[in-house]
Amino acid sequence: MARTLIAGNWKMNGLRASLVEITAIAGGVTPAKENVEALICVPATLLMQAADQARESALNIGGETCHTNEKGAHTGDVSAEMLADAGASYVIVGHSERRADHDETSEIVASQAAAALRAGITPIICVGETAAERDSGKAIEVVTGMLRDSLPEGASAESVVIAYEPVWAIGTGNVATVEAVDEMHNALRSCLADVYGAAADLIPILYGGSMKPDNAGDLLAVKNVNGGLIGGASLKATDFLAIYAKA
Ligand code: PEP
Repeated sequence: MARTLIAGNWKMNGLRASLVEITAIAGGVTPAKENVEALICVPATLLMQAADQARESALNIGGETCHTNEKGAHTGDVSAEMLADAGASYVIVGHSERRADHDETSEIVASQAAAALRAGITPIICVGETAAERDSGKAIEVVTGMLRDSLPEGASAESVVIAYEPVWAIGTGNVATVEAVDEMHNALRSCLADVYGAAADLIPILYGGSMKPDNAGDLLAVKNVNGGLIGGASLKATDFLAIYAKA
């Protein structure tokens, strides 16, 4: 059975003053909550301080993307080794905003995930369909294809996390229906079973897309939903902890 992961994604939000939210979240997550992990992925500028503030708590801190290489002439980029050195234990790869804004293909995402594993941190591999792809009835085909192409070679089931994030639900307030989430997560689980066999059951599959305290209970109750990737509602400790409390 997969562990549950409640993960926040701050995106390009947060100045040093926002780190009070990290302290509040770190104070609200409990190591005694069995099989449920909490994580906040922050901008690279805040990572080291966020990790320091979370050190004595059960809160994990992660990055939002990484380069495929360990080091070198890539001005402005951050490697997975740098994230690990700054205190990250997870990194998001293949978020739809990175795929759209930076032309990150599934092949690149697979290399980023491999880079995360090389650095000893867990990649959260994001996949999701656009509204047009859903409207044309191709959502399952598109998203399972993306997943297959985004998985790093040679990874074990214990070392990866998947996030299903319909692009049309991210930051819009439009949440996928429980039925659509159920159908997609079942399809993703079978796809993972083709690659990892029975061990695929250990892989957390998160739902992301306008998850809020008032809809989290229903989404997290879906059979193959093992947590959430939460953007807007992770910026405030009270909202994030309210979602965490539902897990
Ligand atoms: C996200 O950033 O991955 C996300 C799901 O954002 P939101 O929760 O704001 O839709």
